[in-house]
Amino acid sequence: MNPNLPTRAVESLASLTFDNSFVRELPGDTEDRNFRRQVHRACYSRVQPTPVRAPRLLAHSREMAEVLGITGDLGSDSGFAEVFGGNRLVPGMEPFAMCYGGHQFGNWAGQLGDGRAINLGEVVVPESGSGGGRWVLQLKGAGPTPYSRSADGLAVLRSSLREFICSEAMHHLGVPTTRALSLVTTGEQVIRDMFYDGHARAEPGAVVCRVAPSFTRFGNFEIFTSRGDIETLRTLADYTIRTDFPQLIADGKPIDAETYARWFDEVCQTTATLIVHWMRVGFVHGVMNTDNLSILGLTIDYGPYGWLEDYDPDWTPNTTDAQGKRYCFGNQPRIALWNLLQLANALVPLVGKAEPLEASLHGYSEAFERGWRRMMAAKLGLEEYQESVDDELVDGLLVCFAQTETDMTLFFRRLADVPVHDERPLMADHREGAETSETPGIPESLREAFYHPDRLTGQIGETYRRWLDRYRRRVRMTGIPDADRAANMNRVNPIYVPRNYLAQLAIDRAEQGDADLLGEWLDALRRPYAEIAGLERFAAKRPEWARNRAGCSMLSCSS
Ligand code: AMP
Ligand code: MG
Repeated sequence: MNPNLPTRAVESLASLTFDNSFVRELPGDTEDRNFRRQVHRACYSRVQPTPVRAPRLLAHSREMAEVLGITGDLGSDSGFAEVFGGNRLVPGMEPFAMCYGGHQFGNWAGQLGDGRAINLGEVVVPESGSGGGRWVLQLKGAGPTPYSRSADGLAVLRSSLREFICSEAMHHLGVPTTRALSLVTTGEQVIRDMFYDGHARAEPGAVVCRVAPSFTRFGNFEIFTSRGDIETLRTLADYTIRTDFPQLIADGKPIDAETYARWFDEVCQTTATLIVHWMRVGFVHGVMNTDNLSILGLTIDYGPYGWLEDYDPDWTPNTTDAQGKRYCFGNQPRIALWNLLQLANALVPLVGKAEPLEASLHGYSEAFERGWRRMMAAKLGLEEYQESVDDELVDGLLVCFAQTETDMTLFFRRLADVPVHDERPLMADHREGAETSETPGIPESLREAFYHPDRLTGQIGETYRRWLDRYRRRVRMTGIPDADRAANMNRVNPIYVPRNYLAQLAIDRAEQGDADLLGEWLDALRRPYAEIAGLERFAAKRPEWARNRAGCSMLSCSS
């Protein structure tokens, strides 16, 4: 360790206010040695991060640093990398790993827990500033914990970079998510067999510092019910309600069965909101196990996630899921409901009866449907969703998407520029420049969205053209001027999303020690709805080389 420390950023860390309520208020593991085991009647185990050889800050989120009140030049501050690589703690930090279980791919998997995540502590930020409140700092990849089972507790650069960039991109997209403060390479090698095919290799190791108001998952509650430990279940539920859902006890009444029921109802509602957002931006989580669903309705645990490029509801980025497609894009709303049902089962001992929980599950489905319709209407530039006409409009669009590979992001973005206040239909014989266009009746601006624009002839072109005519008629009914509609649509349809192949390009460069592309990309992702000249490379659809390349279209859980 460098004796000349601290430098500025690390000094500002020393002035953070920690209030570690999780370890203070909840029962902890009585065993303090770090070895793998089943941990009973405890919500966490105290554990130290494992020091690494040469921590180096590769990237950080300046917005997150600002919210936390961390100032100074983080990049040139080796002390900052020391802390967020796991080599040293600052006063106030009390590291621990959480105990949780989970249903993985539909089956109860027993105890899982933070196998490679170590919470450093809870920073309290005064409510006056933006982002005020409680922020838990958590290192991912900082070494083994009692919950590491057969794995090493480490993380590789490729998966850490993917988690870092997507966490921050989601935040800027307006999708509820855990955040990322920093991405630190460790200077150590980690052995991974990326496709579980006997080809293990050494990869650069890395640590991400994740940040969230809470990292509690559905599985944190399931584990206690599965063990018949209702006392700890209740203690954790009460803590969670007091800390993260204070509005539920605002009337000063003690927490009772009704409070637990209202709490579950709120989890159902926020989960519905989350999934609507995922469907809006084309995000596929890839591993929606119950240990990967946040009690706060945040996107959590970025593993083999992916972004829809050509719109395909059956697409899953996760190679482990390639057969069953349980976690494909189109299944996400249903899987969230299934996960909520598992949480409901875990909470029955607190609520005492099933009926209120069942009503909330029903409420999830209703909230999702309502939210999804409102979201689709907004994506299409409509003020409201009129079931009588818009069910058919949306179904028709999905039929179009199924005809030929259509990039979801670019399609909605470019649809905003299609003029509708021209009464002539987009029919072959009415359009301008019919002889020269390869896509009769399809506006030139939309061509960019198609992976094979040459296939828009004949039946496929006709299907799209009919849909566009229908769409234009529908929008004309609203009377919204084209420019206003475009502005509205561009507020919900991003132009920059963390495309799978761009992540791979950034990883390839970062593995060579060059984080410039990552930095430039992060900059573009900061304003995902504002199209900026010069940033075209971050908006481009997937190039042909990336179609079947590992890391671009397919990802394994190895990370
Ligand atoms: P995931 O499917 O990535 O959410 O992980 C499921 C469980 O495996 C969680 O308990 C993780 O903490 C644990 N886990 C995943 N990778 C590792 C690793 N390299 N070392 C230790 N535990 C891990
Ligand atoms: Mg997980």
